[in-house]
Amino acid sequence: MSDGADIKPWRAVALTLFPEMFPGTLGQSLAGQALEDGLWSMDTVDIRSFATDKHRTVDDTPFGGGVGMVMRPDIVDRAVCDAKAGSAGDLPLIYMTPRGRPLTQARVRELAEGPGVAVLCGRYEGVDQRVLDAHGAEEVSVGDYVLSGGELAALIMIDACVRLIPGVMGSDLSHAEESFEEGLLEYPLYTRPQDWEGRTVPDILLSGHHAKIRAWRHEQAEAITRERRPDMWEAYEAAKRDEN
Ligand code: SAM
Repeated sequence: MSDGADIKPWRAVALTLFPEMFPGTLGQSLAGQALEDGLWSMDTVDIRSFATDKHRTVDDTPFGGGVGMVMRPDIVDRAVCDAKAGSAGDLPLIYMTPRGRPLTQARVRELAEGPGVAVLCGRYEGVDQRVLDAHGAEEVSVGDYVLSGGELAALIMIDACVRLIPGVMGSDLSHAEESFEEGLLEYPLYTRPQDWEGRTVPDILLSGHHAKIRAWRHEQAEAITRERRPDMWEAYEAAKRDEN
């Protein structure tokens, strides 16, 4: 019988020009404790260490003209091959980019249930397309805005995955009612004091009537989703129609 010692922890490998940015915020709080406890691991591959010239160049000007610089395919390829030969051999390669598919809780859940992720962090204007194609990289965005580099985006994605690893958060039940889990945003939350500067807690939450509280929270979640995220609301209504 296995005592669990042969089960590999969930792994994150970041391919980056700034390895010192990892684990960054993920070295703190619950993710940091879980990292220390060996529930997940974080490695980095320094892309610049695969440069071959004396200036350790990793980028060049874009063919076709235009502003900025592009990360060279030959250098990035060496970094990816090195990662694959090491701890990232069985991990999906994800390139963080604003033009990628938006990261969703559903994709995060899939990634968290797998062996981990190898994350390629872009800098400058991005990475030469050929090396992304050659390695079948999945392109993922963390939102419709442009960051200065992929490292923060990678930390966001890894954070979202790590908190779903069993044992990282106090209670796995706490995921069930979170935003996106039921296709809805979360209902409003309240804690003590019951009266804060004249602002009181909705009476229903003090009633002790669990079924009514559940119904109220559900109504609130629906109202917030309808108002703030028409795209999610439409999908939620369509799913409900399909169920009936
Ligand atoms: N030229 C790119 C474009 O217009 O899509 C933006 C490049 S950005 C300045 C540099 C790097 O930051 C990208 O290669 C990517 O790795 C990362 N990045 C920026 N915004 C991101 C986002 N919203 N999601 C994921 N990665 C992002």
